[in-house]
Amino acid sequence: MKNIVILGSTGSIGTQTIDILDSIDANVCAISVNTNIERAEQQARLLQPSLVAVYDAEKASELKIRLADTGIRVVSGMEGLIEAATLPEADVIVTAVVGMVGLLPTLAAIDAGKDIALANKETLVCAGQIVMKRAREKGVAILPVDSEHSAIFQCLQGAAGNGISRILLTASGGPFFGMSREQMRHVTKEQALHHPNWSMGAKITIDSASMMNKGLELIEAMWLYDVEPDDIDIVVHRESIVHSAVEFTDGSVIAQMGNPDMRLPIQYALTYPARVPCKVPPLDLPRRHNLTFFAPDEEAFPALGLARRAAAARGNLGAVMNGANEAAVDLFLHDQIPFYRIPELVREAMDTVDYLPEITVEDVLESDRAARDIVHSLVK
Ligand code: NAD
Ligand code: MG
Repeated sequence: MKNIVILGSTGSIGTQTIDILDSIDANVCAISVNTNIERAEQQARLLQPSLVAVYDAEKASELKIRLADTGIRVVSGMEGLIEAATLPEADVIVTAVVGMVGLLPTLAAIDAGKDIALANKETLVCAGQIVMKRAREKGVAILPVDSEHSAIFQCLQGAAGNGISRILLTASGGPFFGMSREQMRHVTKEQALHHPNWSMGAKITIDSASMMNKGLELIEAMWLYDVEPDDIDIVVHRESIVHSAVEFTDGSVIAQMGNPDMRLPIQYALTYPARVPCKVPPLDLPRRHNLTFFAPDEEAFPALGLARRAAAARGNLGAVMNGANEAAVDLFLHDQIPFYRIPELVREAMDTVDYLPEITVEDVLESDRAARDIVHSLVK
């Protein structure tokens, strides 16, 4: 029986993790949420963890009263999130919070020797060099939950130590596939929030519409698999059946396929190296007789070029790009800016914040803050 902690248990990945618990041999020893204590209370009563971390201090106090009859401890703030991430009895931490708020708890979990089932890609985008180095030093596994990275990981299982020569990172293309930049000047929030294949949290859904999600994933793949960004090709694949592929030296390409359902990669991260039956219906390939592949339109989706630039530069540019993107997406979700402004603001932050080739955790936090400040000052 594995003891797991779910950081971000009320989100899309968090709830799907809970949904597959009965397929895997796992016990949930802590959960964490931002503000949704109604859901947290239900989850706590169902899963009986020893600890619930609520980021918002007021909401944490409220939940403490609601759970007074249970003996479940409630903690708050970043300290609480870190306490959940480092719980002595935990084996694996599922990092399913959204945004770079996941960085410090992930690092704390690694320092405490916990394996990480990593959904929170922003952490690697901001500080991949720091996170991967620390994981190697501590001998902990970073098990990818993101479907593309899980696919790459699965493709490598039969590689017998042969290295990757190229990654083919597939992308659905999102709701605005085929549109020009000009046409994207007029899209609405409702359109951007309507993803054709996946049901996900709001932030990643907007990132998918701008294709920044694929940019973040390019950087995530670079750090996870130690490949040069130029050796990662982005391939638009509208059907989201091929979740990514790896090309080897001889030109052979191994791909992983499945229905677009996150429960499969979440489950694999938690049962690896074992495979167990999964709730996701098996792929009916003859019904999927039309799998299509396209090159991405980098002019219509400038986020891809920005991510390539951040990937090549390394240093603090990933943190700057990510922080600016988080701020811009939040402004878009609050109707403060139109959709097309998101990559423009990200670019402006990347052009403005001082570039640091070598970074510490403090530099990452500072670069993130600086990038957000620039976005806010430009929108005021
Ligand atoms: P979501 O918005 O549905 O859920 C986010 C979760 O994080 C919630 O439980 C929320 O309470 C918690 N949270 C938010 N801010 C917090 C804070 N300040 N402190 C503590 N907790 C906080 O997001 P999601 O779609 O589940 O995505 C989570 C992560 O997984 C993201 O990094 C995303 O890129 C990644 N991911 C998601 C999917 C997907 O299908 N949803 C796929 C691949 C990767
Ligand atoms: Mg993905």
